[in-house]
Amino acid sequence: MRIFNTLTRKKEEFVPLQEGRVSMYVCGPTVYNLIHIGNARPMIVFDTARRYMEHKGYAVNYVSNFTDVDDKIIKKANEEGVDPDVIAERYIEECRKDMKALNVKPATVHPRATQEIDGMIDMIRELLDKGHAYVASDGTVYYKTRSFKEYGKLSHKNLDDLRSGERSLLVSGEDQKQDPLDFVLWKPKKEGEPYWGSPWCNGRPGWHIECSVMSKKYLGDEIDIHAGGEDLIFPHHENEIAQSEAANGKTFARYWMHNAFLNIDNKKMSKSAGNFFTVRDISEKYDLQVLRFFMLSAHYRSPLNFSADLMEAAKNGLDRIVSCVGNLNYLLSGAKDGGMSEEEQRIVKEAEGYTAKFDEAMDDDINTADAISVIFELVKFVNTNVSERSGRAFLQALKEEIVMLADICGLIVDKKEEILDADIEALIQERQDARKAKNFARADEIRDTLAAQGIILEDTREGVKWKRA
Ligand code: AMP
Ligand code: ZN
Repeated sequence: MRIFNTLTRKKEEFVPLQEGRVSMYVCGPTVYNLIHIGNARPMIVFDTARRYMEHKGYAVNYVSNFTDVDDKIIKKANEEGVDPDVIAERYIEECRKDMKALNVKPATVHPRATQEIDGMIDMIRELLDKGHAYVASDGTVYYKTRSFKEYGKLSHKNLDDLRSGERSLLVSGEDQKQDPLDFVLWKPKKEGEPYWGSPWCNGRPGWHIECSVMSKKYLGDEIDIHAGGEDLIFPHHENEIAQSEAANGKTFARYWMHNAFLNIDNKKMSKSAGNFFTVRDISEKYDLQVLRFFMLSAHYRSPLNFSADLMEAAKNGLDRIVSCVGNLNYLLSGAKDGGMSEEEQRIVKEAEGYTAKFDEAMDDDINTADAISVIFELVKFVNTNVSERSGRAFLQALKEEIVMLADICGLIVDKKEEILDADIEALIQERQDARKAKNFARADEIRDTLAAQGIILEDTREGVKWKRA
């Protein structure tokens, strides 16, 4: 498998630190609001990368944080007159619901900044001891950026370029910096803000230190993959490298993966610009599987413009796969048992070629756009090769292949399990009523709908019985 590494700006062969294991850290959201669909892009694409690596047999240790102490959370808490914890707790819960609806697997660990303060104090102390940080007279601890010789290696910026643009690095209240490039590790409390005790002052951590500490605690000093949106390359990830490598004396992350932006009218979707849709907004109009499909229809390093037309195209695309599986369920409900004919074996073998092609696309820097095209090719191949005469083993093998490839993308295409008993009973009743009214077309339609979901009807003397195929 090859991965594009932001650090080297090249696609590199992926070789994990430990054979068969992958350690991966993905920067998560700041929880002060419902997540927007731009925030959902890294969640979906890196969840897909994880699923693919698991499919290849790797045990993936996947860590993604919630930033639960931040100016925006505090502001929102003050507006509502509640504790910042209440806001963080609420939006973590909402975020988990959105992730579930997007079929994003929970991380192995979802650490929260406020629960890792001790580790942050330890790392800051270490940086002070090693001469990479200093304490200002107001108790703020700054990282001494120039003390880390490799600063800029991820974003490919050199310190002199940064100097010329340094005005943007001056932040109000941080006026005791020795150098505009220095950044905050710990800052003193302000009135009405949450704070923790520390050797320097009562206060709270800067943002960057949290990821260095959580990555170290849950994955170790050196990890395989660190990921997030491309806006995090500078300064966030650059600062994480400076902190972790200076403190631990080891390479922080071997591969850096960054997704491009989800745009709207070719501008980055963001809360601050106000040009966003939340995942919840989208769920009112679409099954969120459609949103997931839409995100994966582009390569993660290509900018993706959100539009109603593209969502409709995504809906139709996903429907094509779901209908193919629905048709297979329908055929399975009436298929004969027994082994595969020679011809069927040959077709199944040929179909397996699509899995190889799918893997090839995913091995090339998780190219989901190409991988999804391969699923379409397989769907077309299957549609032209199955009929009412096909045997059960044959249909089952083809269905399993499509479902497996879709599952690697986190797409649920087999609706068979989704229909609830109560819905089935209601449809059966409607079919009985249609028959009584001599509306046989509707009655047959209902039978076919149920068959496509793997529900087999049996007319008996005691009435209609049903079972799942
Ligand atoms: P935030 O809550 O802003 O810290 O963002 C959480 C994650 O979402 C980070 O990895 C960001 O890079 C990512 N992100 C935010 N906006 C977008 C966007 N419009 N497109 C893609 N990724 C985004
Ligand atoms: Zn981070």
